[in-house]
Amino acid sequence: MRHFKETGVVDLDTLTKMGYVPDEIRLRRGPVAIYECVEEIPCNVCVFSCPFNAVSKNKITDLPQIDFSRCTGCGVCVGRCPGLAIFVVDVSKEGDTGYVTLPHELFPTPSKDGEVVLLDREGREVGKGTVTRVYRDKITKSWVVTVSVPKDLVMVVRAIKVIR
Ligand code: SF4
Ligand code: SF4
Repeated sequence: MRHFKETGVVDLDTLTKMGYVPDEIRLRRGPVAIYECVEEIPCNVCVFSCPFNAVSKNKITDLPQIDFSRCTGCGVCVGRCPGLAIFVVDVSKEGDTGYVTLPHELFPTPSKDGEVVLLDREGREVGKGTVTRVYRDKITKSWVVTVSVPKDLVMVVRAIKVIR
């Protein structure tokens, strides 16, 4: 498999090795943040954005460390990350539907209950979902969108395309 530094697209194995994927028990317990921040860049917005002290760095260029036991899946960090590299997944509900919360900075703006095309990390269409929540971060003005997706796609869907 080609490295993300060549392709520009990170894969799930790499994220798992980096400690960004919680175990099944934590995933089933409730919504939780998935960080896909893989470059050692000088940024610590997520550390200061998290109201639950779930994110830390020893130095500003370290990769963020997530304490999944502290993360509530609130999603505040999703709208604050300048790299659009944070998502929240939720597979805790009964049934086959899961939820992905993601940043969205393209027009048109999604509307609640609207149908959207689900895209993977490479921008490929992987299905359709419904917007269950949408709000604008009060500081960054980024849209933060929660979409329902088939449960087995929560670690696949990372963007949406609004159906006009
Ligand atoms: S989802 Fe909420 S609790 Fe979890 S890391 Fe982000 S801001 Fe912190
Ligand atoms: S705010 Fe985003 S880009 Fe900055 S360190 Fe945190 S996850 Fe990475």
